Amino acid sequence: MDSLLQVVNKYWGYSSLRPLQHEAMTAAVDGRDSLVVLPTGGGKSLCYQAPALLSDKLTVVVSPLIALMKDQVDRLIQRGISSAFFNSSLDAADRRRVTAGIPRREYKLLFVAPERFADSLFVDMLGHVGVGSFAIDEAHCISHWGHDFRADYRRLGQLKVRFPNAAVHGFTATATPTVRDDIIAQLGLRQPVMLVGDFFRPNLRYRVVRRTSAVANVLSVIRQHRGHIGIVYCIRRDDVDRLTSQLQLAGVRAIGYHAGMSDDVRTQAQDDFSTGKADVVVATVAFGMGIDRADIRYVVHAAMPKSIEHYQQETGRAGRDGLPADCVLFYTGGDFHTWQRIIRKNESTDLENKLRMLSEMYDFCTGMSCRHRRLVSYFGQQWDRAACDACDICTGTFEHSPDSTVTAQKILSCIVRTGERYGAAYVADVLMGTPTDRIVDRGHDKLSTFGLITDWPKGVLIMWMHQLADQGFLRIEGEYRVFKMTPEGWRVLSSQAEARLSDPGRRDGRQRRERRTDGAGRPKRAPARTTGLPPLSGKGEPLDAAAKVLLGRLRDLRRRIADELNVPAFMVFSDKTLREMARRQPRSPDEFLDIKGVGAIKSRQFGERFLEAIQAHLRK
Ligand code: ADP
Repeated sequence: MDSLLQVVNKYWGYSSLRPLQHEAMTAAVDGRDSLVVLPTGGGKSLCYQAPALLSDKLTVVVSPLIALMKDQVDRLIQRGISSAFFNSSLDAADRRRVTAGIPRREYKLLFVAPERFADSLFVDMLGHVGVGSFAIDEAHCISHWGHDFRADYRRLGQLKVRFPNAAVHGFTATATPTVRDDIIAQLGLRQPVMLVGDFFRPNLRYRVVRRTSAVANVLSVIRQHRGHIGIVYCIRRDDVDRLTSQLQLAGVRAIGYHAGMSDDVRTQAQDDFSTGKADVVVATVAFGMGIDRADIRYVVHAAMPKSIEHYQQETGRAGRDGLPADCVLFYTGGDFHTWQRIIRKNESTDLENKLRMLSEMYDFCTGMSCRHRRLVSYFGQQWDRAACDACDICTGTFEHSPDSTVTAQKILSCIVRTGERYGAAYVADVLMGTPTDRIVDRGHDKLSTFGLITDWPKGVLIMWMHQLADQGFLRIEGEYRVFKMTPEGWRVLSSQAEARLSDPGRRDGRQRRERRTDGAGRPKRAPARTTGLPPLSGKGEPLDAAAKVLLGRLRDLRRRIADELNVPAFMVFSDKTLREMARRQPRSPDEFLDIKGVGAIKSRQFGERFLEAIQAHLRK
């Protein structure tokens, strides 16, 4: 047995190592810098703890999780490994004890929070003692490109300068290739050993479903897992409080957990979950780091998380024992906007990046490619399996619209008829029968596919086109993201293959306009809109006070409609269109139709309600 395995066996009692642990430990023993990316539960701690025992120098572990340090140190001490932590939670006496112990080389491992490196006395002390290596936990916190950037981490870039003889090892469970490169650059790692674990967790079964009712949806998953434990993630603290009491009322042994609760309440919640007094923890993102139960059978997202990184980390907490576990995500377009508001309000730096991550998460929800594949490729790992057999897409349990193939044929026909030269928005306009200048100029308002799908908003059509691309029926090419047919797409057109498109939720049957077909079953040409294009608005012109009030009301109405239809608000009307409505205050259907961005379909769908809101405003 090699010395590493001997140490692991002696102190931890493990008889074998997990994937990449040996490589990571060897890099540490050899004094090489390294970046180790292993999924949650992959056993990262052992990678720096075991080598520390083979070194005669101090290993400093940097972690942002102050609350866990005591626990980690207690466990090491129980195993007979001398270690200590030094952070703001220590009282003066303990500080003195640890500060005296460090120069006496009493500890193999010292856990500190990143802000400790702002203290020059502390850094000098480490300089005198001689540090063998630094293990940086949650290393992605150093990168602006990650989802958890922490300014404190930036200081760690000085470690390689200040301690040139010490090796630096970064550890993270979540790092896209961009974040990885950034971690290496920010920490100044020298020819690091790069180890990236397998992110495919075949025992996790992924499902993404449009939410109809948070309580009923979440309860259905909990009831499928009677006798097992699970986590339910919510966006806001209020959601946690509300859902917890609703679940309790329904007889579920649920407890809440969020950062707004006192430390005592949170510790109690964590203990209750660990010891089995509670079956379900309803939580915000604050819950999860350091959960020690490996038998979590399900993770439910009552709403969409704000990034794929969060999603991967949160769902990764299920099934760490390797047995099957369910990850069910309930979402609506409204979640996207809730996060957008929260992010805009709270994030002063990196706004664009945060919003990009949010969009990627939304695309994950509405996308149609294998969930496992999306996740592992997001983290830069090659995907070489055909199907995973463990997600709603691959197993065909995705909630799809009953007339998917027919709708797909309409979309694909339109792409063929317009010459495979346009992007999603243009094709959608043709399908919806919107006679824009470009469409009329090119004569596309004369095509049989013009106005072929009139009962869904543009956003849904665009989503469907991407879903067809996800399924390999279309390819997206070039800078202008032009849609091109694939051989598989042609098979759908000739009814030799079936396509699936998601069901975007309810639609009002009364407002649905069936298109008539001609004798050969082909759709008839849609009548061109006669009103012509409305005059251009005075773009950017400021609204007066009354119009601003109206704009607020119109936005509320848009929000309600979007919620009813389960679509993002912009799919109802863009903000620009609402501003135009507030400015011009149309009073009749004709005037309404004259607003830029309204169009015949939307006017039919929403006209009455918006006109009513405008009337009500004018009466006041
Ligand atoms: P991570 O930090 O990667 O999320 P941890 O270091 O917390 O993971 O390890 C997860 C669990 O796996 C811990 O309970 C740990 O003791 C256990 N573990 C780690 N390595 C091994 C191993 N080689 N054999 C058995 N159990 C291990």
